[in-house]
Amino acid sequence: MTKEESSIYISVVIPIYNEAPNVEELVERIRKVLLDYGKSFEIILVDDGSSDGTREILRKLAKEIKELKVILFRRNFGQSAAMTAGFDYAKGEIIVSMDGDLQNDPTDIPKLVNKIEEGYDLVSGWRKDRKDPFLSRKFPSILANKLIGATTGVRLHDYGCSLKAYKKDVAKQLLLYGELHRFIPVLATLYGARITEVVVKHHPRKRGKSKYGIGRTYRVLLDLFLMLFFLKFSTRPLQFFGLWGGGLFLIGFLIELYLSFLKIVEGQNIGGRPLLLLGALLIISGIMLAGIGLIAELVIRTYYESSGKRIYHIREIIE
Ligand code: UDP
Ligand code: MG
Repeated sequence: MTKEESSIYISVVIPIYNEAPNVEELVERIRKVLLDYGKSFEIILVDDGSSDGTREILRKLAKEIKELKVILFRRNFGQSAAMTAGFDYAKGEIIVSMDGDLQNDPTDIPKLVNKIEEGYDLVSGWRKDRKDPFLSRKFPSILANKLIGATTGVRLHDYGCSLKAYKKDVAKQLLLYGELHRFIPVLATLYGARITEVVVKHHPRKRGKSKYGIGRTYRVLLDLFLMLFFLKFSTRPLQFFGLWGGGLFLIGFLIELYLSFLKIVEGQNIGGRPLLLLGALLIISGIMLAGIGLIAELVIRTYYESSGKRIYHIREIIE
């Protein structure tokens, strides 16, 4: 590592997928803002398998601009993967993520960085005046934000805003499987990060196309379910599955006990009663849930033990 590389202060990380008409202006504007700001920086563009000529432009830009680093994926791996690659290769003390379509405004970067310097680990942008279509975007997003806030207890107005700033260690420990980049604040909470938000500007997409349709709403819901599970039970799945499984089993057991009583003591005919079936189903599902819990418990333990992962995160040690 050269001296220059080791002293980078801000790394801007941007996933890029088919943004040929945007990249040049994007890099120029970020560069101007950060040169004015006066701290050392690098811009990392992660090309997520573009096929519209973006790569050729990036190759050219990387030769011309010394602060620019370009990572080219072999194929399209998705926005989360591209962000993670950027975080992995970032050298700055503070990492800033944003979109590559200029919907986020580079002039907001210093504002986020200042907040980090105040002592926060994660500063999330809040697109208070969001310039996206209402029905397909803003409306589902309002609902999702409310739902995520209410269920996870991490209170932010706008989880989905890509414009965020992180302390290095927070960004680097994020594991954004699938499309979990939308849940970065929740994941950071798991890590114990101090989080805040600041209002940022937002612009309509001027060039290029959005990469997502309405179908993502459903996937976000599934991810939310996963996040809730992580937040509450990731290190003790048996308590989750065991509680439900045990409960169902107990109800089923009581039902069958009651029916047995009717049959044996009162001599009633119980063969045709729906309750009989219900009880049997409850018992079986209860046992299965508890079994899943046991397996999940084994998997989780293997995960933590084999990867040498700790079940805690330390902020500092004072001697
Ligand atoms: N993106 C990516 N890989 C993908 C989809 C999107 O790297 O598979 C990038 C895209 O180029 C942009 C950012 O992720 O920089 C956000 O995408 P987009 O603007 O389409 O999302 P929207 O603003 O419509 O939510
Ligand atoms: Mg966009």
